[in-house]
Formats: sequence, C-alpha cells, structure tokens
Amino acid sequence: MYSRIPYGMQTINHLDEQAILEVLRSDWLTTGPKVSEFENAFANFCGAKEAIAVCNGTAALHAAMASLEIQKNDEVIVPAMTFAATANAAVYVGAKPVFADVQEDTLLIDPADVERKITSRTRAIVGVDYAGQPCDYSALRAIADRHNVSLIADACHAPGASYQGKSVGTLADITTFSFHPVKHLTTAEGGMITTHSKSLASKMRCFRNHGITTDHAQRESRGEFYYEMQSLGYNYRLSDLQCALGISQLKRLPEWVEKRQSIAALYDISFQNTSIQPLLKRAEREHVYHLYVVKVPEREMVFQALRAKNIYCNVHYLPVYLHPYYQNSGYRGTHCPIAEAVYKNILSLPIYPSLSGSEQKYVIEAVLNATEQ
Ligand SMILES: *Cc1c(COP(=O)(O)O)cnc(C)c1O
Repeated sequence: MYSRIPYGMQTINHLDEQAILEVLRSDWLTTGPKVSEFENAFANFCGAKEAIAVCNGTAALHAAMASLEIQKNDEVIVPAMTFAATANAAVYVGAKPVFADVQEDTLLIDPADVERKITSRTRAIVGVDYAGQPCDYSALRAIADRHNVSLIADACHAPGASYQGKSVGTLADITTFSFHPVKHLTTAEGGMITTHSKSLASKMRCFRNHGITTDHAQRESRGEFYYEMQSLGYNYRLSDLQCALGISQLKRLPEWVEKRQSIAALYDISFQNTSIQPLLKRAEREHVYHLYVVKVPEREMVFQALRAKNIYCNVHYLPVYLHPYYQNSGYRGTHCPIAEAVYKNILSLPIYPSLSGSEQKYVIEAVLNATEQ
C-alpha cells in the first residue's frame, strides 16, 4: 500500500531550487528583474500582449474586477460550480455574484443559463475552464458583446489549454491564473493576469502596488524619489523569488500537460463500460486536465473506500452559493439544479505529472473495487 496518493501535487526539481537560490543571493528579492521576465515569458506562452504577476489567483480576479470598475449595485455572472474565490472577487468590489448553472456532461458554465441571468445591472461574465477544459468562449463572447458586458476568464485550471486553436489567456478581455501548488505550475502562492488591453494592464499593475503609479525600480532608474498614489490599491505583488520559480516551472509546463493528458486517457479507457462516468471532452478544445473528475454512484462510500487505501481524492466543488457565507447573505433562494445534483456524485481522482504508472493502476483498481465492477 502507498503511504499517500493525493489528488494533486507540485513537481519541483534542482533547476527550480537553483533558480530560487540565485535570486536569494542577488540584490532584488521583490520588484526586481525576475518579475517582468516571468510576465514576458508567460505572455509569450499564451500569446497575450500583457501579463501582470500577482500574489495569488484570487488577487488576480480582484484586480480584474477593479480594473473594469465593477462596483456596488453591479452584477457579475459566475458559474455555480467553481472555487469560492471566483464569486468572492465580485463581493470584494461590492458587486453581486449571480450564479449560472453548468452543463451536466462537462460542468462548464452553461451559456443558455448565462443569457437568462443577464439583467440591466450585469457588468461581466466570468467563465471558468473547469478541470482544465476551456468553456464555450464563442457563445460567451457573443452574449457579452450583445449585452455590452465584459468577459473574464478564470483560467486557474487551464494554462496551456486552447479553444478552436486559440490559447487560453487570449480568449477573454481579462484572464486569470493561479500558481498554488495543486495547479499546473507553482510559485507556492502566486497568480497571473493576461489581457490584450494596455490600459487595463496598466490599471492592474497600479492596483497590485497600492494604487501607486510607478514602482521602486522605475523611480530608481529615472533618478526620482517622488511617487503618487492615485487610487486605492493593494499590496498584491509577487516576489522575485517566486517569479524565478515560475520561470523555471513554465519551461516544463508543455511536458506536464502531455503527462496529465496521458493519465486522463488511461482513466478514460479503464472506466469504459462501468458505472464510473468521466466528464465529457468536447471537440476543438485542448483539455489540460488540472482535475480528473468522475461521477460515481454513492460518492460518500467511494470516497471513504479510497481514503482507507491512502488515496486522497477530493470534491470540486460544493456549489458556491451553498456555502454558509452565501446562504447567510441572501442566496437561500438560489438554485442551480444541475450543479446541485451533480455535486452529490463527483469525485476528483489523483492526477499530477509525477503520478507513476503503478500508482495510477493502484488507484484504478481501488475505484473499480469500491464501485463493485
Ligand atoms: C485556485 C483557484 C482560484 C484561486 O487561486 P489562489 O491562487 O488559490 O488564490 C480561483 N479560481 C479557481 C477556479 C481556482 O481553481
């Protein structure tokens, strides 16, 4: 028996360690040269014009909302099936998250329900590339354009993914990423925002640095001391130590995506003709499998059976509005029937680049046993 097989796990090697050590021995631990180096590398990777590094994926979403000047009395449509941070970011700026249901076979936001939830107060739609599969960007773009609202992509699950040949990171007005250790690449904590808009990018750069319009390095190179805080911002910066780790990790992302896809393919084959139902992968989308989610009968029992074998699965997610905070903030009447029904059956199985063939075989056998195939 293995001692612990988690559902997700970072991959760190000696090159990562070396990259961090070099920064630690340099003059710049934060707001130094590694920040723009990481931003440029990430922008190139996605094909986006601008990339802004921030301290986590939640700060990225907050900066996106703030740069679009979303505020009190505004509404932001988010999927019910996502991490709470997607909705919380709207709350941070005083706006109201409005939950749209998801499609049963993919758990991606349902454009038809988005359309139904649009009101005169809607300012933005947030698509989430659930599990690593891009959501339906053509449909969401069309709805956003028709109603003159912004489209934000929460792509925390999907760096490296693409939709109709176009990279995630270029498909919305603003796209956000997370570098938490369970995500595709890690900086321990960290995040990135991509956009094609120079003006949104400059607002978000300002927002991550207290609302101050220049940074320390810019003032030093111009021989100036004077700075101005022109709006209320936050300290949402990502350090040079973390950016160096991110640069090093990003180089290995393509091979990690391939590994995740081959793990997913083996799960797919192993669960054919069983009561274990993987989510659907749609045509014309590159799915990068942050998560491998299956629907199983008696999820509680299966979860416990796997846990007894040291397989630490997880459930992504409780529909956000069912969290007590939202229930106590006026969401008792909210119902997204598909998200609520599907929640009872979903389970995220282990998937990460260093998952070995024998570990995956052990997981597959345990899942088949628990569901009595
Ligand atoms: C991880 C995640 C976030 C938040 O990212 P952090 O870096 O943990 O703040 C937001 N949305 C989704 C969908 C995520 O998976």
